[in-house]
Amino acid sequence: MNIIDGRLISSKLKEEYKKKIANLSKKPFLVMIRIGDDAASEIYVRNKGNLCSELGIPYSDLHLKSEITQEELLKQIDDLNSNDEVTGILIESPIPSHLNIQEAFDRIDPKKDVDGLNSFNLGNLASNHPTFTPATPLGIMTLLKEYRVDIEGKRCVVVGRSNLVGRPMALCLLNANGTVTVCHSRTKNLGEITKEADILVVAIGKPQFIKADMIKEGAVVIDVGINRVQDSKKIVGDVDFENAKYKCELITPVPGGVGPMTVISLIDNLIKTV
Ligand code: NAP
Repeated sequence: MNIIDGRLISSKLKEEYKKKIANLSKKPFLVMIRIGDDAASEIYVRNKGNLCSELGIPYSDLHLKSEITQEELLKQIDDLNSNDEVTGILIESPIPSHLNIQEAFDRIDPKKDVDGLNSFNLGNLASNHPTFTPATPLGIMTLLKEYRVDIEGKRCVVVGRSNLVGRPMALCLLNANGTVTVCHSRTKNLGEITKEADILVVAIGKPQFIKADMIKEGAVVIDVGINRVQDSKKIVGDVDFENAKYKCELITPVPGGVGPMTVISLIDNLIKTV
């Protein structure tokens, strides 16, 4: 079977983490900052909170009003930084456009930055001394390891260059000795580049954009995209899964591939805070 089962791997990890956390003398404590009323963020925060509860990790959802000023937000982060009980802080994106999200990420104490999105932790990843790696690339690296995908010397192509997924993903693959090309919206002849990939990671947010003829026979394809289609009733990835799956050695489905790994990887980072 060439379909990567993210749910299976994440539930296996959940059991491992449950035992690990039960044996910790000090428990992690997560604070999730949510600003405004983005419906998807509310669901993500709820899911992360439920997982923390299941694993015996205390957490709190700090819901701030959308009119909050940058100064007020930074003050909230300062308070959490100086609270010794709080070991992990994350800010759920998107946040209202009048706020500077990178400045907020950078205000989080790097030792509490469980999403790995502040410049210090991203810099450590870039210099191959990773501290906290962003959850989605971390989860993908775990999937590749679980499915015994050898990265060293492989031609890796990452489509998408966001700070959240594409950039840190490319760095993870580079740190694992892959030969990495990063593509984005200005890339010319995208299909010719993706077709060279032994390992192709796609994170662009465009439903079924990568077609089977853009994929090399026998490639490992990781689809990060989450796109709601048919009046939001169905979720599809960035890869045309139904046609692409016949060409791939391994491929992640959407849903059930990368998504469950992103949530569980947050726990991996949280454990490192104590
Ligand atoms: P993002 O910040 O919007 O970044 C999208 C990236 O895709 C940008 O770098 C953009 O290029 C590139 N891009 C857009 N159109 C392109 C095209 N036609 N050809 C090549 N590159 C193109 O998105 P993101 O936060 O990285 O998320 C990407 C997708 O992954 C979304 O569907 C998101 O919902 C999903 N996601 C899933 C998980 C999960 O756990 N499964 C986690 C996070 C995100 P430019 O830089 O040139 O604009």
